[in-house]
Amino acid sequence: MKNIDVKKSKGIIAVLCFLLIVLIALSAVLVRSNLRYKRTDRNFNAEISSYKDVIDQKGKELESYSKRASDYESERNALNSKIDDLNKQISIKREQQAQATAPVSATPQPVTPAGEAKTVYLTFDDGPSPHTPAILQILDQYGVKATFFVKDNGSYNAYMKDIVTRGHVIALHSQTHNYSYIYSSDEAFYSDMKNISDIVFQQTGVRTNIMRFPGGSSNTVSKKYNAGIMSRLTKGVTNMGYYYYDWNCDSTDASGNNVPVEKLVSSCMRMPSSNTVIVLMHDTNAKATTVQALPQIIENYRNAGCQFGVISPQTPAVHHSVNN
Ligand SMILES: [Zn+2]
Repeated sequence: MKNIDVKKSKGIIAVLCFLLIVLIALSAVLVRSNLRYKRTDRNFNAEISSYKDVIDQKGKELESYSKRASDYESERNALNSKIDDLNKQISIKREQQAQATAPVSATPQPVTPAGEAKTVYLTFDDGPSPHTPAILQILDQYGVKATFFVKDNGSYNAYMKDIVTRGHVIALHSQTHNYSYIYSSDEAFYSDMKNISDIVFQQTGVRTNIMRFPGGSSNTVSKKYNAGIMSRLTKGVTNMGYYYYDWNCDSTDASGNNVPVEKLVSSCMRMPSSNTVIVLMHDTNAKATTVQALPQIIENYRNAGCQFGVISPQTPAVHHSVNN
């Protein structure tokens, strides 16, 4: 009996010891993980405060950037107003110069009293070309003078002189006629225009201030290369003393190569209500039908009671609306 009690007590003590050990082990685990959490917490706090420092730093940087941006803005405004002043001065100088050395446009401008016959201005873009002599021949045959907006066409540039000596008006179009270049920046455009102006002057002795934008002032192709450039250029060239002309009657010879003669002839008769009719045609290698259609076009205008003129600074402005 006693033996059994002793055995029971030993068993209970053993169980209690085991439970005690388990308890101690559990407490140890809890204390450790608590310590670890505290450590992690401290790390997080340190990290958060370092982020706060970075944010403060960036805030300060932002402040100094905004201040610099506003400084630049006022500097830019000051420069712009200086540029405006200079442009005005240039424009006055150019006008004085143009009056002093007026381009040798041989034909006097026909005067059309309001309400009377329409004046047709035949204009040829993109020449000279292999077709220039034939065009000049037809114009001579009908005693009609036209306006040629020329580009740099290498050896054909020699025809520029013929255009002028036969009494037509030579005007600027472009040296390269490369949209991606001329409309990439204002500087590129003005440099290209100066080049064609110099070529025309070298070939003909004429320094002209009449011009036409490649694609017209309404072109949208320039948007691809420089947003807003046409708005700036149309004002810019005018401030520089140039007179730019678009057209209000399209022969449609640019709608394809060798457009049928009948189509060109009928398109030319779709005249605007204005008495100033500026007809767009092209003098390029691929426009043989323009040459073929020309006699009929001239005769139709004559039969409609129109007279012919060449473009000069006195010609009423024909401007498209600017789309870029
Ligand atoms: Zn052109």
